[in-house]
Amino acid sequence: MGQYYNSQKSRGFSRGGGRGRGGRSNYGRFSGNTIHESFFIKKADEIIEEEAYVSEMKFETLDINAVLKQNILKKGYTNPTPIQDKAIIPALQGKDVVGVAKTGSGKTAAFLIPIINKILANPSEKALIIVPTRELAVQISVELKSLAQGTSINSVVCIGGTGLGPQIKSLRYPHNFIIATPGRIKDLIERRAASMQNVKYVVLDEVDRMFDMGFGKDVAFLVDKVPTPRQNFFFSATLSSNIEQLFAKYLVNPIKIDIKTTDGINTIEQDIVRIPKAVKKIDILHDLLIKEGFNKVLVFGRTKHGVKDTHQELVNRGFKADSIHGNKTQAQRQKSLNAFKENKVNILVATDVAARGIDVMDITHVINFDIPATKEDYTHRIGRTGRANKKGTALTFVE
Ligand code: AMP
Repeated sequence: MGQYYNSQKSRGFSRGGGRGRGGRSNYGRFSGNTIHESFFIKKADEIIEEEAYVSEMKFETLDINAVLKQNILKKGYTNPTPIQDKAIIPALQGKDVVGVAKTGSGKTAAFLIPIINKILANPSEKALIIVPTRELAVQISVELKSLAQGTSINSVVCIGGTGLGPQIKSLRYPHNFIIATPGRIKDLIERRAASMQNVKYVVLDEVDRMFDMGFGKDVAFLVDKVPTPRQNFFFSATLSSNIEQLFAKYLVNPIKIDIKTTDGINTIEQDIVRIPKAVKKIDILHDLLIKEGFNKVLVFGRTKHGVKDTHQELVNRGFKADSIHGNKTQAQRQKSLNAFKENKVNILVATDVAARGIDVMDITHVINFDIPATKEDYTHRIGRTGRANKKGTALTFVE
C-alpha cells in the first residue's frame, strides 16, 4: 500500500472545518447538485452520559404467551426500549400504533411482540409487513424467527431480486406473516399468488423511505387490499404531509409515539473533504482509510458502476472491502453485508438504495465519496453511524 500513502497534508486536501470556507465553487464538478456544502458540516453534540431509560413495563411481568416471553428474555431483552415500552401494551389491547422512530430504536420488536402474541391466540390470523428494502425484510424475518421460535408461526419473505417461483410456492403453504417489499407483493397479489384474506395486522415500516422511493401509491394500494377491521402499525423516521394524509386515511384513533425527543442528540461529527482538482477521489479515500480510527467504514457512491469500481480499486490496493449495489443478487448482497457485520471486511461500498435499512453496529465513519442526490439521502446515509449514543463521523467529498 506504501506507494499510495500520502499524509493528508502532503496530498494537499483539507477538511472543511467551517461553514462556507474555501474558495472553490460550492457546487463543484457536479453542476446538477443543489445541496450547499455547508449542509454537510456540523459538529456533534457533546455526548452527556444519559441516565438509563427507566421503563414502565417489564418483559418478565408482561401478560403474554409464555414461549414468546421466554424467547424475548433469551434474546437478552430485559428492559424494553422506549418505543417498546410505549407501544406494546396499547397494541396488545388492539390499538393502532404510529411510531415516529428510526431503525435502532427497537421498533421491530415493538410491533412483532404484540402481533405474535395475538396470532398465537388466533392461529388463522395473518400479518402483512411492508418495508422499503430487501435487507430490512430479511432483518425483520430474522427477528421474527427468533421471537417465534418453538411456536407454529410461519413466515414468507416476498422481495424483489429473487425468483418469483419459490415465493409463489411458499405462499401456498400456511403462513402467518408476509414480509414484503411493495413492488413484489403487489405483483404477487395481482397474480393471485398472495391472498390478503385473514390479514388482521398491517405494518408499514420506514414509510418515509417508501415514499422517497416512489412507492407511496403502491403502499396505499396494498393497505386497501387488506380487509377491515384490522390493526395498523405505521412507522416512519420522519413525517411529511403525504405521510400524515396516508395515516389519517387509515388509522383509527391511534396511539402516537414520537421517540425523537429521547433520541434527538446529534452524535455525528460532519465535515467535508475538499478534493483538489488534480487529485483523484480514490487516492484521498485511500489516505483516509489508512488513518487511525477508521475502523469500520461505509462508503457511499451514487451509481452501481461507480460503487463496483471503487470496491475493486480498494481491493487492488490491499484493503479489506466489499460492496452492495443493485447489480448484485439478494444472496450476494446479504453475503457482503454479513462480511461487514462480522468484521471480515471493514469497508463496505454501497449505493443509497442497497444500503437502506441496514443495521450494522459500530460503523465509525460514513464517507460520501459522491455527494448524495437529496438531503434525505444524506440524512439516511450518515444515520448508519453514531448509533446507540456512540460518536460517529460523516465526511463528504466536495469537488
Ligand atoms: P430495531 O430498531 O428494531 O432495528 O432494533 C435495533 C436493535 O436493538 C436490534 O439489534 C435489536 O435486536 C435490538 N433490541 C431491540 N429491542 C431490544 C431490547 N429491549 N433490549 C436490547 N436490545 C434490543
